[in-house]
Parts: sequence; structure tokens; C-alpha cells
Amino acid sequence: MQRPTSPTLIALAAGLAHAPRMLVLFVEAAGTAIPTAFHGACLAVSAVGFVAALSLGNAHLAQVVFRCRRWGLTVAWVVTLLLETLLLGPSIAAGLEGKDLGGVLGSPALRWAWSLGVVLALAGIVALAMIAEQIAHEPRHRCPYCDWRGDSRPALAGHLRACPGRRSVEGLAS
Ligand SMILES: [Zn+2]
Repeated sequence: MQRPTSPTLIALAAGLAHAPRMLVLFVEAAGTAIPTAFHGACLAVSAVGFVAALSLGNAHLAQVVFRCRRWGLTVAWVVTLLLETLLLGPSIAAGLEGKDLGGVLGSPALRWAWSLGVVLALAGIVALAMIAEQIAHEPRHRCPYCDWRGDSRPALAGHLRACPGRRSVEGLAS
């Protein structure tokens, strides 16, 4: 069996973050009361999925940013880090102050912003992980004379020795 790629694991973790909350919502919408312990377990599983998706996503992005050095991806990675900090900061403050998260996020507007931020972060990290995976597998070296692309400098040097595009350009130049 093929080993799951990082984006697949990140998507599974994001699913783990969403699924228990959706389950609770659907059951409540159907008018069935949910036992408190079960509700708590659902929220705990969701939190584990959330943290796993963000941590795996950031690690994967950091790897690809370092290897491929693309500006767009670097900016997206920094935005993800800031978003993650803004989302996890209040939870840690709540723990330190002995309050619940709603108590730390004083106003309804902040609670809305935090909730939307969670959904955005999960959707964003999955999409970015997929994009980063595509970028990581793109050949990094291009021939300046033709459409050839390859993964290494030696391969490019080998191609350049035989490149018909280069020969015709240099033939015209001499
Ligand atoms: Zn070429």
C-alpha cells in the first residue's frame, strides 16, 4: 500500500476536527439530547484534529518553503503562522486565567471572528498543503533554450551538452 502523503494526513486531521462538531450539530438539530460526556469527547477529538492539522500543515509548508523558496508560498506560510497564533493564543490565556474561551473572548464579535478563523485556518491549511505538494514535485531546473525541465543541476548540465535549442542558438551566434 502507498504511504499516505502529508496533505492526505492533513486533510484527514482537518476532517477529524470537523466531523465530531458536525455530528453534535446534526444530532442536536434532530432534537435528540446529547449526553454531556459524549459532547465533551466530541469536542476533545475535534480539538486534537484541529491541532494536528495545523501542526502537520505548518511543518509541511515549512519544509516546502525551505526547499523551493517561492515567495507566494512563503507569504501564505507566514499568514498561516499568524492565524494559528491568533487562534491558539486566547485558548492558552484562558487556561492560565482559569476561564473558558468564551470568557477570554469578551465580545460576540470576537467569538465570531475566532470561530470563523478556525474554519478558515482548517480549510486554508488543507488547500495550502495540496498546493505546496504540487510545488515540491515540480522540476526545479529549466533549460533556457527549450522546454526541458529536470530535478538536478547535473541533469541540466547533461541536457545542455546535447540540447538542440542551445546548438541552434549558438550556431546562429557564431
Ligand atoms: Zn534545452
